[in-house]
Amino acid sequence: MREVPRPLTEEEREWLRQALSLLSTGEYLGGGRWVDAETGQVLPLDPPIDPEPYLAQIERLQVVDMCRCGDPGCHTVRFQHYRPGKSVALVHTNTLDGRQLIVFVDEETELLTELEVI
Ligand SMILES: [Zn+2]
Repeated sequence: MREVPRPLTEEEREWLRQALSLLSTGEYLGGGRWVDAETGQVLPLDPPIDPEPYLAQIERLQVVDMCRCGDPGCHTVRFQHYRPGKSVALVHTNTLDGRQLIVFVDEETELLTELEVI
């Protein structure tokens, strides 16, 4: 297990950049990409969000905790801004190798709090 706190790996930065790039297209919560199981319709796009305030945080993020579930497909890390009960999903998409990729943000401060790859 790697020491924490530590800076992000290049892979973690790339996952964040990939996910945050969906903010400006409105696809960040599945809009335009995922089909609603009940209606059979593709989910509508969400209002575009400027990704810059989030992208600008990447260089200063530190990993302070990592998931210890032991699943080799799980790569879930928590950043220094994490506060219990304050994180909400900002982007939900998939990695290039088909895992779920979810980026969480603090609902009050808008600081990135967690990267979940499962
Ligand atoms: Zn895990």
